[in-house]
Amino acid sequence: MAEQTNAEEAKKSLNFIEQIVENDLAEGKNGGRIQTRFPPEPNGYLHIGHAKAICLDFGIAKRYNGICNLRFDDTNPVKEDVEYVDSIKEDIQWLGFQWKDIYYASDYFQQLFDFAIRLIKQGHAYVDEQSSEVIAQQKGTPTQPGVESPYRNRPAEESLDLFLRMNQGEFEEGSMTLRAKIDMASSNMHFRDPIIYRIIKHPHHRTGTTWKVYPMYDFAHGQSDYFEGVTHSLCTLEFEVHRPLYDYFIDLLMTDDGYRPRQTEFNRLNLTYTMMSKRKLLQLVKERLVAGWDDPRMPTLCGYRRRGFTPQSIRNFIDRIGYTKYDGIIDVALLEHSVREDLNETAKRVSAVLNPVKLLITNYPEGKTEQLEAVNNPERPEDGVHEITFSRELYIEQEDFMEDAPKKYYRLTPGQEVRLKSAYIIKCTGCKKAADGTIEEVYAEYLPETKSGLPDSSRKVKSTIHWVSVAHSLPAEIRLYDRLFLAENPAEEKDKELKDLLNPDSLKVLANCRVEAELAEAKPYDHFQFQRIGYFNLDPDSKDGRLIFNRTVSLKDTWNKIKDKV
Ligand code: ATP
Ligand code: MG
Repeated sequence: MAEQTNAEEAKKSLNFIEQIVENDLAEGKNGGRIQTRFPPEPNGYLHIGHAKAICLDFGIAKRYNGICNLRFDDTNPVKEDVEYVDSIKEDIQWLGFQWKDIYYASDYFQQLFDFAIRLIKQGHAYVDEQSSEVIAQQKGTPTQPGVESPYRNRPAEESLDLFLRMNQGEFEEGSMTLRAKIDMASSNMHFRDPIIYRIIKHPHHRTGTTWKVYPMYDFAHGQSDYFEGVTHSLCTLEFEVHRPLYDYFIDLLMTDDGYRPRQTEFNRLNLTYTMMSKRKLLQLVKERLVAGWDDPRMPTLCGYRRRGFTPQSIRNFIDRIGYTKYDGIIDVALLEHSVREDLNETAKRVSAVLNPVKLLITNYPEGKTEQLEAVNNPERPEDGVHEITFSRELYIEQEDFMEDAPKKYYRLTPGQEVRLKSAYIIKCTGCKKAADGTIEEVYAEYLPETKSGLPDSSRKVKSTIHWVSVAHSLPAEIRLYDRLFLAENPAEEKDKELKDLLNPDSLKVLANCRVEAELAEAKPYDHFQFQRIGYFNLDPDSKDGRLIFNRTVSLKDTWNKIKDKV
């Protein structure tokens, strides 16, 4: 009984796709085989929306002892490139997944061409000599049937001859297409004699100039699934209306061995303050509105990687949002919450001063230094401690000192005590100002008996501030990133230019920061918590001892507040 309850519990937590897969397995469909694929078009870098598809495609295969292949949907040579192929492989592996085999839709160009010829001979396809604009005009509306092309009923031999010559390069791009002959009055617009081949003379990144005609998505995707033996073809909701066409071509292709692929759709990921379409991302790169595909403000996987997001945090985020049949928009704060949660567990705590001002400990002997211990990660005592150097001259944040402070200001102000993190309690005694009023130096005295870790260190102060030693810290550049778009849903701002949608403060560069000596050892992409500030990682631009850090996310979590309101 208890066991049954457990099984039911487990079942309840299945998403609707896992439920479908389990039902198929129970019914013995496809001989109990589970095979999925992730099918990117190599026309851009992967973005966080793709991560949602990747986690599902690879996750289903893993959970049900199946396989997941990587298939490049490379049917449009004009937009595709090997640069994208390489980056896609790298990003999938970075996310933590491994495909079984790699396929390319272009591997099937011959099979698809042969299939098209068969359809022409069987009267299921014809060559149309009208332009795609005219064809679109004849499509009709969902309530009004379309107009049949004057070429619709031409003899099969004529279409066959033209189709072969289309592929010889005899005709100009756009002058002819091959159309499936289905039903110009169908209530599904995709059945109104869809174009299945077009002429493209641009060389293909894999097949070169072998082909002059290329299959459309609807004539390549389902067939590719079928050729490979895919059992569950998972895609986003916009393909739901394509599914009957997917099934139509599979029916024509199928031999009667009981196997057939099935398409199931799920909701795509949309994020607030984020544009996801590859076309828009390409535009951002081309118009140099960002530094490249891996600009840390980009929603690409390489952008998030460079920004300091971990694969674990992205997978956790995808797990949290789940898979449904309804489109919506997810608050980007949930993604930020996921990375904060992960880095809280794993990132080493260090000190960095973003806007330094000198703090002089006037009663600390000149020339003296002390090695103190700083805890690496209070969440994981097993991570131990590292050494920091204390001395008479320190840097603190400008904002941690105020000469005339309001009552509730608990940081440094003349007469007030604060603790220096992992060091001593100090009492502020004053400051030195330049003629224009800027603070040049802050003065304080330390209380030797309050050293962190000593019995008397229980003495209470209202705040703890971070610091680094002037002589023992390193200069660094720190890049503070904020959301790239101002509008909550930039994709809806259709009448505005892309550049006018951008947040002008999405990148702030602080060139004169100081970080503790421990960071001399940091390697590109290493994660840290800069205490009291946020999570940062070392940017790969760091070279020859020049340290550059990216802010992954600040410490403040807005998600919990939002969640409570929902
Ligand atoms: P975009 O519209 O952003 O250019 P795409 O759908 O054209 O993306 P593909 O390379 O064709 O990109 O997508 C590969 C797979 O990733 C498809 O199965 C697609 O459904 C899925 N995918 C793309 N965008 C998202 C998203 N935002 N959320 C979930 N899955 C997505
Ligand atoms: Mg696409």
